[in-house]
Amino acid sequence: MIDDTKFGSRDKRGDWKPFKLSSNIPFFDWPFSIKNNLKWLLGIPGYILPWTFFYGLIAIIFWVYLTPPMEVIKSFHYSWFLYLLIRNLLITIICAGGLHFFLYIKKSQGNAFKFNVKGMAKNNKNFLFNDQTKDNIFWSLVSGVPIWTAYEAFSLWAFANGYFLGLEWTMHPIYLGLTFLFLPLFREVHFYFVHRLLHIPFIYNFSHYVHHKNVNPGPWSGIAMHWFEHILYFSGTLIHFIIPAHPVHAVFQLLHAGIGPLFHGHIGFDKIQIGKLGIDTHSHAHYLHHKYFECNYADGAIPLDKMFGTFHNGSEEAKEKMVLRMQQRMKKMKTAK
Ligand SMILES: [Zn+2]
Ligand SMILES: [Zn+2]
Repeated sequence: MIDDTKFGSRDKRGDWKPFKLSSNIPFFDWPFSIKNNLKWLLGIPGYILPWTFFYGLIAIIFWVYLTPPMEVIKSFHYSWFLYLLIRNLLITIICAGGLHFFLYIKKSQGNAFKFNVKGMAKNNKNFLFNDQTKDNIFWSLVSGVPIWTAYEAFSLWAFANGYFLGLEWTMHPIYLGLTFLFLPLFREVHFYFVHRLLHIPFIYNFSHYVHHKNVNPGPWSGIAMHWFEHILYFSGTLIHFIIPAHPVHAVFQLLHAGIGPLFHGHIGFDKIQIGKLGIDTHSHAHYLHHKYFECNYADGAIPLDKMFGTFHNGSEEAKEKMVLRMQQRMKKMKTAK
């Protein structure tokens, strides 16, 4: 077992917080350092390893072995849609179910690296079936995965019929390789703006509140969202109306959006422990969003929150700034009344 007190501190309640507060990628730091950027890109852990490689590999396996050929996709048929739906349901159940089983039922690492010492809520009227896990499973599987699959089916069909701009790997390997590699960063920018939209009060009250019921999220909370939020959240793949790519890019982007939030942001732990290995989940920034609402609309790699003044790195200073911002907002709302 890794000693988590070497990496963070625990308060009286038992909640754990990392010493190393979240920071953006070095590309945006000044003075510009080639060394730091290469370390960020190629280091272990770094941008590529382990996470981008992990999602990229599953996407390639999905595309090569678990996606019907484009000749079939060219004309819509419910049978291949159902096939994609079952494939996506299975990967979600394996990932979210696996994480929930090991971390929350078997408690394989106890409370080591756990942000909030409490488990998932039970007997709580806020949640469907009075149970946070069941509520989260419902929204993920009944709304999340079908809408993800609808976008995937549409994207593949659009590539097959020339509505999305498709390129061949043999002709454009460097361009396609680079766009594939940086799709997770594009996703962060897309997520930031969609997320700001979702926090507009009437949209929040209609839709985003479903996700925010999870003040203390777990793996199943990742894509536990209202259907309207799912429609916006998975829409990044429509970028291929204007950005040329290959169908595997759409499979990758949607898979990254579908299972990424189960491992990051919502898992509840800063590191997943496998033996003596502690794998970073990059979850603290988004955990703070669930805890405080008015901060960290992006995940922190691209400094959008810093630019728009909503960044919270977990420090007391950032907390004070956020409280001030909230008070000013309340004041404005009152004067508007
Ligand atoms: Zn939010
Ligand atoms: Zn969230």
